[in-house]
Amino acid sequence: MNKILEKYFIDTYPKIFRDMYGPMEKTCMAWGISTQNGWFILLNTLCWRIQEHIDWHNKYLKEGEPPIPQLIAHQIKEKFGQLRFYYEGGDDYCQGLIDFAEDMSYWICEECGTSGKEVGRTSGWIQSLCTKCSKKNKKKITYNKKLLDLLKKCKKIEKE
Ligand SMILES: [Zn+2]
Repeated sequence: MNKILEKYFIDTYPKIFRDMYGPMEKTCMAWGISTQNGWFILLNTLCWRIQEHIDWHNKYLKEGEPPIPQLIAHQIKEKFGQLRFYYEGGDDYCQGLIDFAEDMSYWICEECGTSGKEVGRTSGWIQSLCTKCSKKNKKKITYNKKLLDLLKKCKKIEKE
């Protein structure tokens, strides 16, 4: 990811990105965020929700309730066209948020951030790209035909 965006993450979520640019023998965050810029909004929303959840919970602890351990990113990368977020700390709620973000990334162009039905998968080295970016990169993408057909059907019905 672009260094300007990575700096934004360090400044905005210093606890989550504690290890960003740390020594490579200690953390995979040494290389920063290993995705393209298109997933910036997704990652930003994810980190915001995680930190808000932890801070809020730990600020208003009920008696005898343990605090949520701070979530710290270990590695953020793209694998098989999807976001992968490895970490320590957090709780089940954080895990649920991360699962959702990883699944959503499948529908967001990793290069430009376009989302929805225009996003498909390249074959070979799998990437999630939109129609425009796939053409620009001279890569052929396959769309989710079942969902496309369903949306087409909806449009038809709405026109009637
Ligand atoms: Zn795109």
